[in-house]
Amino acid sequence: MKTLLLEEMSWPEIRDAIGSGMRTVVIYAGAIEQHGPHLSENADTVRGYVEAEGLARRLGEALVAPVIRPGMSEHHIAFPGTVSLRAEVFAGVLEDYIDSYIRHGFDKIVCCCSHGGNSNVVESVVAEKKTQYPNVKFATDNILAVLPAMLSAAEEREGLESGVCGGHADDFETSLMLNGCPEYVRMDKAERGYIGKLDEAQMARIFSEGIAAISDNGILGDASKATAERGSRYFNELMDVLEKSIKSQLV
Ligand SMILES: [Zn+2]
Repeated sequence: MKTLLLEEMSWPEIRDAIGSGMRTVVIYAGAIEQHGPHLSENADTVRGYVEAEGLARRLGEALVAPVIRPGMSEHHIAFPGTVSLRAEVFAGVLEDYIDSYIRHGFDKIVCCCSHGGNSNVVESVVAEKKTQYPNVKFATDNILAVLPAMLSAAEEREGLESGVCGGHADDFETSLMLNGCPEYVRMDKAERGYIGKLDEAQMARIFSEGIAAISDNGILGDASKATAERGSRYFNELMDVLEKSIKSQLV
């Protein structure tokens, strides 16, 4: 199948695709940040491409923007290698992505996060853009609101100990990586990290004090038993949830 990645297409190909009705653009916001001792720092970015392409195929008539990297990762900065954008810088990049694609003729803009730390700013930028462009349809994944329930459901369905899908470099994310981008996983280095529920209080603590305050190795959950097979089920479940939510916002 032909590429859906805008960055891999030439301008006449993009012009013709838009002209033939492919007027939805899927913009993912990823990160360059620590992901425990077993995943590379580009995990949210490479996983973002896999998820963006999967979602674009589910939506149909959709193309994929270059994944935004880095993102907002201040809560990971205690670990070497993490790059974090200030909120106003990240918001400016997303605003300029949206403005650029609208100028090219896209009229359905889908903004998702493969890194939860970007979610609040993405929601507020999109809320502003909706007012600025009343004739354009927008959708977001609102991932920070959706993720905790998705992780709990995944643990239950898979019969896993509570907390192993803890929200960062955990069984969920490591399995997704093994399924979609295995070249960036060192399973011999995968460990158990902080085990606890990713609820609102926990998220508030992570964002105010940083992940290092509760996890020495940077993992929230347990990565040690991740499998590609489970990652494939997690991926399909994630796509099901996103497809339903995004389609309902684009009507
Ligand atoms: Zn991640």
